[in-house]
Amino acid sequence: MSSEGIVRLRRGAGRGLAFVVSGPSGAGKNSAIDRVMARVPGLSYSVSYTTRRRRAGETDGVDYRYVSRAEFDRLVACGELLEHVTYLGDEYGTSRAQVKERFAQGKDVVLNIDVEGAKTVRRQGLAEFSVVFIFFAPASLDQLGERLAERGTESEREIAARLEVAAREMEAIVLFDYLVVNEKLDQAVEELASIIVAERSRIVVAGD
Ligand code: 5GP
Repeated sequence: MSSEGIVRLRRGAGRGLAFVVSGPSGAGKNSAIDRVMARVPGLSYSVSYTTRRRRAGETDGVDYRYVSRAEFDRLVACGELLEHVTYLGDEYGTSRAQVKERFAQGKDVVLNIDVEGAKTVRRQGLAEFSVVFIFFAPASLDQLGERLAERGTESEREIAARLEVAAREMEAIVLFDYLVVNEKLDQAVEELASIIVAERSRIVVAGD
């Protein structure tokens, strides 16, 4: 076999990989993803649409695309969202056009979405692309509460609501391929990067 043939056997070569990273809000998912993206080449972040208000420190077009509810409804109606959810009263959705464009550029895409969104992607797949499901968990729900309080971007009521959703989300762990527990951020980043690198090296068999 030629060396080119050998390289083509690798799953990540010539075929888009999508890494769905889900898990409770406040588990440190965003920080871990930022660090992995800075370190592992060839990754692109799927910037979701949302109707929630922009938090201090967030940038439109980088963290999210902030849209009105009317605009969000229009995106749903015209089929532009690969999946979408209502999370604690706000809408969130993944841009179909953006994911396709990133794959076309030869990038692998990281989707930072909630557990319901991950279930939708698992059910319907992502066309011809392979999807890897990674659950990113806090060491405990107590730790999650502390993190959300430290972050200071939500009110006490919003924190309580997020903790309730988190407890439900943790039950979905079994639906995922990998589990990263964020006890220490450095270690979690290491594990997330390793999963991505390993998945890119998987051997593709015909029809996989
Ligand atoms: P936050 O308001 O903390 O930025 O996000 C709340 C939750 O929504 C997080 O779990 C985040 O991963 C999820 N989320 C962000 N964008 C999307 C999306 O496009 N689709 C889905 N299903 N969830 C999303």
